[in-house]
Amino acid sequence: SILLLHRPAAAHDKLLGGLLADGFDEGSCHSRYQSAMYRRNNAGKEPSPHLEALQRRCGPGTAAYSNAVESLRSGKSGGIGSPPQTECRYLVSISYRGLGNRILAAASAFLYAMLTDRVLLVDPSNEMGELFCEPFPGTTWLLPPGFPLTNFTSFSVDTTESYGNMLKNKVITTDAAAGDVPTPHQQLPAFAYIHLDHDYTFHDKFFFCDDDQSVLRNVPWLVMRTDSYIVPGLFLVTGFQAELDSLFPETDAVFHHLARYLFHPNNHIWGLVTRYYDAYLATARQRVGVQVRVFGARQESPKVLEQITACAHMENLLPDVITTGEPAATTRRRLKPKAVLVTSLTSWYYEKLKGMYWERATATGEAVGVHQPSHEEYQRFGSGSHDAKACAEIYLLSLSDALVTSGWSTFGYVAQGLAGLTPRVMYKPANESSAVPDPPCRRDVSMEPCFLTPPYNNCRMKRSAHSGKVVAHVKNCHDVPWGLKLI
Ligand code: GDP
Repeated sequence: SILLLHRPAAAHDKLLGGLLADGFDEGSCHSRYQSAMYRRNNAGKEPSPHLEALQRRCGPGTAAYSNAVESLRSGKSGGIGSPPQTECRYLVSISYRGLGNRILAAASAFLYAMLTDRVLLVDPSNEMGELFCEPFPGTTWLLPPGFPLTNFTSFSVDTTESYGNMLKNKVITTDAAAGDVPTPHQQLPAFAYIHLDHDYTFHDKFFFCDDDQSVLRNVPWLVMRTDSYIVPGLFLVTGFQAELDSLFPETDAVFHHLARYLFHPNNHIWGLVTRYYDAYLATARQRVGVQVRVFGARQESPKVLEQITACAHMENLLPDVITTGEPAATTRRRLKPKAVLVTSLTSWYYEKLKGMYWERATATGEAVGVHQPSHEEYQRFGSGSHDAKACAEIYLLSLSDALVTSGWSTFGYVAQGLAGLTPRVMYKPANESSAVPDPPCRRDVSMEPCFLTPPYNNCRMKRSAHSGKVVAHVKNCHDVPWGLKLI
């Protein structure tokens, strides 16, 4: 199983107060050692001492790993056979879609692996290995070549070996599903596919129930697909409660800790981050990150621009501009400027904001610099330089002192979580012709990402159907009313 180690209290600051493992070559991953210098609120949250999972005993390259792969290879064709004998258990994480989705999926898989004593292996085709440094000292989090389930990246809701389909077809049963009659010791498959995509079914959703977790515990290999932050769903499983409580005394900082442990941009991306920060943001009096994500065909929306300025005004994040005349001489002060970091697929919002603060004086007399690292115009898939820029921008946003984000966007969720900042989240207008939402934004309930597609089943009548109201620390999201998030 995974070994959870406590860090010595005296661990150096650059290891984020002991959150990170020592024992890496510093030159191979500058961000791991330098990020503490770029963040203001490092001290704000206590790292969870357990957050170090050593995969050395079971990970790729070990005899245990070879045995487990061999057992999967011989067990996969027969489906259900004799109970597979493996020393260690594994979770293979398939993640897909945009970078924000992939980061949330990998962090979720990591936590689930920790809770269930599984070794985490991420599918290398999701490019995690091309963006981030290796998080585990002396081993790897990347699934090595030669994995016996050759078609696993195309597993979908229809896959016969999905947990949901095996439940539905009674290939697997839980005690609870069988009524009061105890299930005889059942033979379990060598692997199960856990489908947690947005189209997951009634049966797939039993993943978030205690009885089902007891069954899954005995399946040596799990392959999981999600594009979501499923962690609030793991808080619904009572069997995980004790360990979650001890891992995360602060339930609103779960992703913050997971992300700072797992996601260290590689040296190329760290160069993009630090060069930009040092050139444009370092000397500012205050950095305000504005993440603009417009879902829909038309990226350039005057209403979204109005929403941004209305939000910044309401929340006192940016000064107003004087529309007529000149500022009173007394307000002309030589303060260090405020810096606004805009991220967006288009440069339109940046141009408008920059023009606004150049062409007009501010009521307070302060100067406002507006910056945007890139404008990629549209979302691309499988392009290294595109993902590198997205990664750098998420990271740059996370170095802000205050954040305005777009609701529904996993890109923003990752930035706020990495930052450890509760953002002002802008509501998504119902459609392009609807009015600017009033209020334009709201301080979110926590820095945690929202689980956009949570299960609303009742675990076979054992629990109230509306999980958003029954579990402490799990509430509905502001931006997505049916979503769940930790507070
Ligand atoms: P979501 O779709 O907003 O939930 O966020 P994702 O990160 O999952 O997917 C959006 C993708 O579009 C990103 O990964 C980027 O590839 C691209 N993208 C969206 N907004 C930006 C942005 O502000 N800057 C950059 N560089 N890319 C962006």
